[in-house]
Amino acid sequence: MKASSKFSKICDIGTVDYRDRIFFTFDMDWCSDEILDYTLDIIDQCQIKCSVFVTNKTILLDRMLNNDDIELAIHPNFNFLLNGEKTNGSSVEEVIKYYITIIPNPISVRAHSLVQGSQILDLYVKYGLIYDCNLFIPWSANIELKPFYHWNPKLIRVPYFWEDDIHLLYNWEWDPRKYLKQSGLKVFNFHPIHLYLNTAKMSEYDDYKRDKLIKENQKAFGIRDFFLQLTEEIKKND
Ligand SMILES: [Zn+2]
Repeated sequence: MKASSKFSKICDIGTVDYRDRIFFTFDMDWCSDEILDYTLDIIDQCQIKCSVFVTNKTILLDRMLNNDDIELAIHPNFNFLLNGEKTNGSSVEEVIKYYITIIPNPISVRAHSLVQGSQILDLYVKYGLIYDCNLFIPWSANIELKPFYHWNPKLIRVPYFWEDDIHLLYNWEWDPRKYLKQSGLKVFNFHPIHLYLNTAKMSEYDDYKRDKLIKENQKAFGIRDFFLQLTEEIKKND
C-alpha cells in the first residue's frame, strides 16, 4: 500500500521540505515480536512512512527491510555503561559497533533514554551515521524546530517535539490538531508497547511491566487512539 505523501522518514530530511512533511518515529525498546507485528500492521493500515529505531534482532527485520516506507535506524543503549555494566560492549564505541551490525547501513540514530555527548556524536560520524535524533524539545516550549548541522557537518541534528510517554507525563491534550498547527519541523515518536496497550496513563504501563497483563475493559482514550486520529488528520490535509 502506498504511503500518503505527507509522511516522510528521517533519512529523507535532506531531500524534502521538512516544513511540508510529518515525521513518525518508533523506538522499539526491546518489545516482543507480537507487539512489533501489531505495530507494523497499524503502520501498514495507516499508510504512513516512518523510521524505526531498532534495539534488537527480530524475525520481523525482513518484514521491515522489505517495506520502502520504513527506514531502519538504531537505538543504542548506553545505560549499562553508565551503571558500570558491559552488556553489548565495554565502551561507547563498542556499543555503537554492536548496534550498527543489527541492521544494514543505518544512517539515523536515537539513543535509549536520549543519552548523548560530544564523544558519542563524534563516534556517530565515525560510523557513518548522518541524522542524530537525540534532542527532545517539547512542543509546549513553543520553539519552532528545524534540522541543523553539528559542528562536524557530516552530522545533522533532528530535534523532535512530541513523544507518547512524555505526552502522558506532561498530561498534554489529545486533540492532534494542536500539534499539527505548530510551525516548523514536526517529529512524533511512539513506542510499540504504548500503541499495543493504548496507554492512557503511565501507571497502566507500570502495571503491565509488573504483571505482563493487558487489562480488559480499558476504555479510556489512549496513545493508539491518538495515533489513529493523528494520522487521519494528516491525511485529511493531503
Ligand atoms: Zn528507548
